[in-house]
Amino acid sequence: MLRSLGLSLAVLLFQFPPPAVDTPKLAAPPAWLAPFREPAARLLGEAVSNDAAWQRLALLGDTFGNRLSGSPNLDAAIRWAVEEMKKDGLENVHTEPVKVPHWVRGRESLEIAGAIPQPLVMLGLGNSIGTPPAGVEAELLVVHSFEDLDAAGARARGKIILFNVPFTTYGDTVRFRATGPSRAAALGAVAMLVRSVGPPGLRLPHTGTLTYADGQPQIPAAAVTTEDAARLQRMVDRGTPVHLKLTMEAHFLPDADSANVVGEIRGRDLPDEIVVVGGHFDSWDVGTGSTDDGGGAISTWEALRLMKKLNLRPRRTVRVVLWTNEENGGRGGQAYHDQHLAELPKHVMMLESDGGVFRPTGFGFTGSDAARTKVRDIAQLLAGIHADVIGPAGGGSDIGPSVQQANIPSMSLEVDGNYFLIHHTPADTIDKIDPLEIARSAGAIAVMTYVVAEMPDRLR
Ligand SMILES: [Zn+2]
Repeated sequence: MLRSLGLSLAVLLFQFPPPAVDTPKLAAPPAWLAPFREPAARLLGEAVSNDAAWQRLALLGDTFGNRLSGSPNLDAAIRWAVEEMKKDGLENVHTEPVKVPHWVRGRESLEIAGAIPQPLVMLGLGNSIGTPPAGVEAELLVVHSFEDLDAAGARARGKIILFNVPFTTYGDTVRFRATGPSRAAALGAVAMLVRSVGPPGLRLPHTGTLTYADGQPQIPAAAVTTEDAARLQRMVDRGTPVHLKLTMEAHFLPDADSANVVGEIRGRDLPDEIVVVGGHFDSWDVGTGSTDDGGGAISTWEALRLMKKLNLRPRRTVRVVLWTNEENGGRGGQAYHDQHLAELPKHVMMLESDGGVFRPTGFGFTGSDAARTKVRDIAQLLAGIHADVIGPAGGGSDIGPSVQQANIPSMSLEVDGNYFLIHHTPADTIDKIDPLEIARSAGAIAVMTYVVAEMPDRLR
């Protein structure tokens, strides 16, 4: 891996991957960008000349494992991050307290009940209630949409409902996981299963949070694999009544103490104007949360380390925030909003990386047309690594409350990778991440952030 990183910079920046034949000709770079070419080249060069980001992400996962809110793993990882940021020479390194929900999965299982029980591969959904200790046993009813469920009406009563819906896009499919439990409970179902929200993998269950609707009974809910959903579908299609037994110990403990981690490079001339980058530091309680979202946290942090290493102190302050509790509460992003309310109008831009650190293609951006033009100009500095596409919308769930409050220009790192294949699964581990791709991601974030923080005019 180090050998590939040691390839000449020219090859890395200008020849791989080969440009698509239909790449549009770029307009001539604007004159204002000229002074930024040299620092941008240095940041990208430093980023891809080593595998520091990958090594740090590997260390995070190997040492602390997964990091669900309220877990000792997350607490220890937060303490480690503070110490490491200080070692990097970041300034004003501190934690900001956040009370987080503390959901515990416990033991869980699902089987086809009968004379010869058949265990299925499952993961309880985050924030689900548990079953009674002996489990819930009931007949299975398979549906393929909310319309299907509503059409079943009274037939859903007393059943375990399976939403067997193929994965299309996350936004389209996640609603069955999020709101399916309450929709099923409203019709008297006793538990809900969802085909995992992700493309077919190798019998991989995907967890993720559910949201119980106010005023509806709460029922336990879990995800099953694509393969097991298909098996259950075949059995039902044959006309065989299928009885399932679901056992889950899932429960909440009292809210726990957690924290956002903050580090900065203070601005040279305008320290009160702030450019924020970050990712969430918590993860689901399976895998090591390397892609979701250790990679986002480490790559944005790495952007500051690169600036520090190269003695690039921009005009404005650059701040990295590692948010807590994105996955099952969003309290870290909300707490940042609450604790920084007075200075939100001084936030020049906020960038969140929570879509994986695969090959970067550019950034999504939400803001004014004038700001979009500036950001497009800056992205030309990333043409050499083909990370120069500015998409129609950018943001993230942790920066969302602040961005909406103060109408702050917002960005997200965009990448080309199979994020949803491993998202929220035991397979979200460091080996899915290429050292060069996370290095390029960090380099792209560093260039974009540095220029926004350094350019004479504020991004508006
Ligand atoms: Zn995430």
